[in-house]
Amino acid sequence: MKSFAGRLLAWHARHGRHDLPWQRDRSPYCVWVSEIMLQQTQVATVLGYFERFMQRFPSVHALAAAPVDEVLHLWSGLGYYARARNLHRAAGLLVARHAGEFPWTVDEVASLPGIGRSTAGAILAQSRDLPCAILDGNVKRVLTRHRRIAGWPDAPAVQKLLWPLAEALTPAARAGDYAQAIMDLGATLCTRASPRCGECPVHEDCAAHAQGEQALYPTPRPKKALPVRTTTFLLLKRGDGALLLERRPPSGIWGGLWGFPEATQGRGPEEICARYGLAAIGETRALPPLTHTFTHFRLDITPLALDVTERGVVCMESPDLLWYNAAAPAAIGLARPVQDLLRAQE
Ligand code: SF4
Repeated sequence: MKSFAGRLLAWHARHGRHDLPWQRDRSPYCVWVSEIMLQQTQVATVLGYFERFMQRFPSVHALAAAPVDEVLHLWSGLGYYARARNLHRAAGLLVARHAGEFPWTVDEVASLPGIGRSTAGAILAQSRDLPCAILDGNVKRVLTRHRRIAGWPDAPAVQKLLWPLAEALTPAARAGDYAQAIMDLGATLCTRASPRCGECPVHEDCAAHAQGEQALYPTPRPKKALPVRTTTFLLLKRGDGALLLERRPPSGIWGGLWGFPEATQGRGPEEICARYGLAAIGETRALPPLTHTFTHFRLDITPLALDVTERGVVCMESPDLLWYNAAAPAAIGLARPVQDLLRAQE
């Protein structure tokens, strides 16, 4: 039987994906942006975002020079906005420390914001054919099934088994093609719900397949009930239909994105209107509530609408406030629930 890598490479040459936009240009920058976008997001969703992003920021220099607001704007809707902020920060560091060139070692690449060991390996393997191992979600699924490795793959004890295995299987030559092949295998054949083992190039020695236990691997993350937080969004609407948005602080949820003022204890509609020089017209109206789920908690959102007029130009000159006009939308980053509420107001 040919080696694991040999079988994957032969399969990938015939059946793998070769026409994705980030496969045309295998520069470290292009591979990096695609790898970050593909974390937590499906290929089909990433395609449009990737094309727009690369058109606007064709190089690490262009990305580093752009305002973070513009980066977040192009990321709006993809979620996990820390990814975009880290891309922007890392671009700045690459330009400042490395003249815009990517370093050559996994440790150096993984020291950049938002790049873990697996992503660093994927960038170096695919752009420079360096024999660096990767261990993203797809690879974890393939390896835990192929070797019947039990336990949640992100548990430290399981990582200690998986990394040496991933390294041992990575070939010295054609590491970039191998990285794409094993990721493609996980994405297209060794899928979570219905693996197509009959077509799989490594089924002959796949332990989970031999036992009919594909569904048992990888072991799911231990379940914890998500804590619930609540908040109230205030949709302050001017006579011309524009809605008031605030820029959120740079850290915390939706850091640096724009959102509606949030009512909290001691900061209700009256206080917010007073602070921004607005006068309420009528009463607040409750809109249908929404829920947004983050990795670590669930956020229950109560939106309240209130018509207002400006009582002067009190603090509309602040760079952290703007009146959002749906007919001429500003190029800013918006969290998904804010986008949904803005759309519902059109
Ligand atoms: S044989 Fe099936 S379970 Fe095993 S690696 Fe291939 S697709 Fe996955």
